[in-house]
Amino acid sequence: MPEKHKVPRTTELEFGGTLGALCLPVLLPLTVLYLLLSCRTPDASLLPPPPLPPLAQLWLPETLLLLLGWGALQGGLYHSPSAVPGGVAEGMVLRDGSRLKYPINGFSALLITGGILSVALHCGLPLGYIHDHMLPLAVSAGIISLTLSLLLYLKSLCAPASAIAPGGNTGNPLYDFFMGHELNPRIGSFDLKYFCELRPGLIGWVLINLAMLMKEVELRGSPSLAMILVNAFQLLYVVDALWNEEAVLTTMDIVQDGFGFMLAFGDLAWVPFTYSLQAHFLVTHPRELSALGATAIAALNALGYFIFRRANSEKNLFRRDPSAPRVSGLETIATATGKRLLVSGWWGFVRHPNYLGDLMMALAWSLPCGLSHLLPYFYVLYFAALLVHREARDERQCLRKYGLAWERYCERVPYRIIPYLY
Ligand code: NDP
Repeated sequence: MPEKHKVPRTTELEFGGTLGALCLPVLLPLTVLYLLLSCRTPDASLLPPPPLPPLAQLWLPETLLLLLGWGALQGGLYHSPSAVPGGVAEGMVLRDGSRLKYPINGFSALLITGGILSVALHCGLPLGYIHDHMLPLAVSAGIISLTLSLLLYLKSLCAPASAIAPGGNTGNPLYDFFMGHELNPRIGSFDLKYFCELRPGLIGWVLINLAMLMKEVELRGSPSLAMILVNAFQLLYVVDALWNEEAVLTTMDIVQDGFGFMLAFGDLAWVPFTYSLQAHFLVTHPRELSALGATAIAALNALGYFIFRRANSEKNLFRRDPSAPRVSGLETIATATGKRLLVSGWWGFVRHPNYLGDLMMALAWSLPCGLSHLLPYFYVLYFAALLVHREARDERQCLRKYGLAWERYCERVPYRIIPYLY
């Protein structure tokens, strides 16, 4: 193995270092359970802590089988390029100069899943089951994530030195297990991280939302306007992610982070079970929403989506083809690596315009639940904290990569996410 292909030891630890790697695998699953239990109490309040249910309500082997079946369905769709149409894209250049190939058929997989679901619903599939079994489903998702990340860590010990993730190579097994030791673990051509990023959890989130809507219909005869808005906004977000699936190949999760507990739990348990909290909340805490209120919220979501999509597409296109007519006229700064940084267009407005749009959408997803409870605002609060932390991580890495050029960029574009504020 040429020395230059070896990944240097990770020296800057993230997420609280070893202590974080010890505590977060316990705290994150407990947080999911806490939120789900609170959501089911009559006043949906976060304090005092909700009572712990008996074990029989937390663990049901059939939910584990259901989730494994769901994963197998999504895995089959991912791995059937001839039956599930889509293209193939190349990832970023790796340390050894190679580029991996990825199937781009997530949107088709979503449509086929929708088709299968429609037939199953027509045949009487009781989708409300998901609402009634959220706790054991979440526990099973946690068990699957933990098992997967343990297997991934064991697999990473046999991986070649060039395949190790730059962020998960401390030599401390606990930390590397948490952050992910191998960058792109694969079984044959099946890329485990890429698959988990956008398929079972993200499509599962849409399914859970739909189950909440069906439960509302079961309880009250028709879906509320608030429930329809939450379902529509979040469906748009997932459709967008799968339609623009290729864009994930340039994100930090794919390029920098290994596949360990953090991403496995995040993708398979955290996203589907906490991102669906608003719809879950509305089942037992219905809200009246006026047409004017709904229009204002929809406008906020549309504006957030517009900023998010345009900013992400602009950077993605610029990174893939800087000479493309849509981006070739933008002002840029040269860096010593040969790559350039955009300083006009969306990336000249703030340094993370995509985060700004994403946050506006997050707020629009919570507002249909009214202002009386904090719980449906968990997502927007958590997401703001996540993006501030992510932005700091990204800026550290960009400063390391681009040095003076990054400092010049920060001088030219002084605000990080919100103009004149942050
Ligand atoms: P970004 O898409 O923001 O990419 C950051 C990278 O972009 C930098 O590392 C740098 O990489 C490049 N870059 C930064 N500034 C410039 C510039 N001025 N010109 C050109 N390139 C630049 O990273 P994320 O992965 O954090 O976010 C992707 C999307 O995913 C965002 O919309 C975010 O909101 C969303 N997201 C959603 C989450 C959710 O749970 N809903 C969780 C996390 C993210 P380089 O120079 O090497 O190309």
